[in-house]
Amino acid sequence: MRIAMIGTGYVGLVSGACFSEFGIDVVCVDKDEVKISRLDRGEIPIFEPGLDDLVANNVRAGRLTFTTDLKSAVKDADAVFIAVGTPTRRGDGHADLSYVYGAAKEIAEAMDGYTVVVTKSTVPVGTGREVAKIIRETRPDADFDVCSNPEFLREGAAISDFMRPDRVVIGTESERAQEVMRAIYRPLYLIETPIVFTTLQTSELIKYAANTFLATKITFINEVADLCEQVGADVHDVARGIGLDGRIGRKFLHPGPGYGGSCFPKDTLALVKTAQDYKAPLRIIETVVDINDKRKKQMAEKIISACGGSVSGKTVAVLGLTFKPNTDDMRDSPSLDIVPALQAAGAKVKAYDPEGMREAREMLPDVEMCESAYDTMDGADAVSIVTEWNEFRALDLERAKKLMKQPVMVDLRNVYNPEDMRKAGFEYVCVGRGTTE
Ligand code: NAD
Repeated sequence: MRIAMIGTGYVGLVSGACFSEFGIDVVCVDKDEVKISRLDRGEIPIFEPGLDDLVANNVRAGRLTFTTDLKSAVKDADAVFIAVGTPTRRGDGHADLSYVYGAAKEIAEAMDGYTVVVTKSTVPVGTGREVAKIIRETRPDADFDVCSNPEFLREGAAISDFMRPDRVVIGTESERAQEVMRAIYRPLYLIETPIVFTTLQTSELIKYAANTFLATKITFINEVADLCEQVGADVHDVARGIGLDGRIGRKFLHPGPGYGGSCFPKDTLALVKTAQDYKAPLRIIETVVDINDKRKKQMAEKIISACGGSVSGKTVAVLGLTFKPNTDDMRDSPSLDIVPALQAAGAKVKAYDPEGMREAREMLPDVEMCESAYDTMDGADAVSIVTEWNEFRALDLERAKKLMKQPVMVDLRNVYNPEDMRKAGFEYVCVGRGTTE
């Protein structure tokens, strides 16, 4: 079995490395020459825990290679996975499918013998059919099937998510393609992973329905958190009290500054657009998108009000810039709304993130990037925890207090205990723990 993985980003590189760990020969392809030459030198272009060892072991075993030459990779492949980006299209919120369709055309030109073309990228309903059309038009003689196999991994836990998924979804009407996919995922059958075989369109929709449901759950608890603050209730107890009900479930009920990242913002928006196009609007998701957009900006207000209503001429220390811990991904991170809003209100912003600062430097101009959490808090009027990296969970509060001009903390991830913070002499503001604010 040979696989070509087109697109060697967060999903392509992790999936490619994991498939090679299954014992399959994998060639990872990318247009980005710098990325491929770094991989060839044994460097991992992204931060993902455990990925360096996984890649190194499989490269050493000869099962995993990297190239910019799509043609040679596709020619000998039994299955070609498309794992290129599907960002929000500028101007209208639809998914930009130009990378997917571009890859489909290139694949068609290079295919040799029966090939299963698999969309692993998150793509709107109907994309798989369009991919098949492009391939047929480019190469009328081609022997192929198109299959949808959406990816559910989370950055920061990507390898274990891929190796031990809750389920695998495979969408194709072709028995022959099903057989190839079954063979690829055989190691997961052995650990009794549920595999959902369905149609192309259904599989495409499953991915969006999953992501928008999760985004809705986060948005729900965020709004409940706001209410908790007003009525003097504790959102964590509410989350536990409802989450222990098996019909609701405990996960994704942690309040915070609003969802961000490379998937939820663009996927919620894209599903809203698809639903509108088909005259079956998803009003819940439309509302979720609106609430979440506003929430990120409201978080800046929360910080400003903790600073006495104005940050003009003040210094705010921001701990954490990535959309969540254990990744260097800055795409649609809440920090990208919060930091500029603070700057617009006249604050000087100092920031530190364990992995995100390389990316963040370009996206957040005029921010003083620091070497450590303490360096960031030095001379600050307030500190805000925006991303809950482990190293921010047990700060030396005495040291922090001595370094800061004012002991004010706005904890947007509820990392600390309000009572402990008060005892430590901090003015402490968090999310949805109304009883203690
Ligand atoms: P990414 O931007 O990290 O990687 C995409 C890569 O594809 C880039 O390196 C780009 O250079 C390359 N590329 C684009 N066109 C190409 C072509 N024609 N030939 C070769 N390479 C090409 O994106 P990502 O985060 O890995 O996401 C990929 C897809 O997976 C998206 O649809 C995303 O929604 C979906 N997804 C992402 C995650 C996640 O956590 N990042 C999880 C599940 C699904």
